Amino acid sequence: MATKSVLVCGAGGFIGSHLVKRLKREGFWVRGVDLKFPGFSETEADDFMIGDLRDQAFCRQVVDRRFDEVYQLAADMGGAGYIFTGEHDADVMHNSATINLNILDVCQKRNVRGLFYSSSACMYPAHNQEDPDNPNCSEGSAYPAAPDSEYGWEKLFSERLYLAYNRNYGMRNRIARYHNIFGPEGTWVGGKEKAPAAICRKVAEARFNGEIEIWGDGRQTRSFLYIDECLEGTTRLTRSDFEGPVNIGSEEMVTINQLVDLVADIAGKKIIKKHIPGPLGVRGRNSDNRLIEKQLGWKPSSSLRSGLEKSYEWIERQVHSNRRAA
Ligand code: NAD
Repeated sequence: MATKSVLVCGAGGFIGSHLVKRLKREGFWVRGVDLKFPGFSETEADDFMIGDLRDQAFCRQVVDRRFDEVYQLAADMGGAGYIFTGEHDADVMHNSATINLNILDVCQKRNVRGLFYSSSACMYPAHNQEDPDNPNCSEGSAYPAAPDSEYGWEKLFSERLYLAYNRNYGMRNRIARYHNIFGPEGTWVGGKEKAPAAICRKVAEARFNGEIEIWGDGRQTRSFLYIDECLEGTTRLTRSDFEGPVNIGSEEMVTINQLVDLVADIAGKKIIKKHIPGPLGVRGRNSDNRLIEKQLGWKPSSSLRSGLEKSYEWIERQVHSNRRAA
């Protein structure tokens, strides 16, 4: 039997680069595409195209065959410091929407049966996430829509775009709403890093009894999903009969203060938290895994602590090798 071919858009990014490794282990021929190569390890893709998916002609070159699976992860995104300040709204919306419009159009013309699309928990209405102890992120709560960021609005628009192609062109696109994915080889410095990576870095840089800065009062809640679990959910959904949208996240909700305590404990350091103003996003957010469990008979199982241990170890190494290089 011929080797199946897979396309990963955003293969130079955090989730995409891990996905390529996993798909190679599964035996696929993999083409990756991105503006850049992965930042922390050599790509394992058989073919890696560097280019801009906002360019339609480039998208036609990328989708030059009927791929068996296509994962569309490319987006202009970052952590709270990037998507909640308002400074990047026009770029975030324009760039990500253009990528989705282009790639979906060329895939449909090449008779690709369906794509996997990574939406985000950021598309849920902000008013359902004001109570840090009881956020509502069940899939059915998405409408009436009221995301708290333009990043979330673009995700919602693109979800609808993928579903419209299912309805009108008989495609079988699959949509997941990711909730805070983390792990080694993710952005950990520079402004686009997310809370777990930022906290691991700050703790790794701090002395024993040192002080680290936390945005807000630290009582906002979130859940975080380890990368390997995310990939398991992603490939299961892509190969299932369920189109989604469905949450892929963890239900182990913690406050940001608890997250800091966990990381400090892993590092074996006593850490003092200094709360400062900063971009925050919603007050509470947690995955609701009832639908994925019902539809796919699966939900993530590893603990936040076990994922943080692996992430901290990796980030600590980056911090130390940066110090040696300085
Ligand atoms: P990432 O930023 O590491 O990866 C995205 C990749 O897309 C980057 O490598 C970037 O260079 C590439 N890209 C951006 N614009 C491009 C363009 N014009 N042409 C080609 N490539 C382009 O992000 P990630 O964490 O790996 O996230 C992957 C997807 O999952 C994104 O769509 C993101 O919105 C979604 N998501 C991620 C999380 C998370 O916690 N990481 C949560 C919710 C949703």
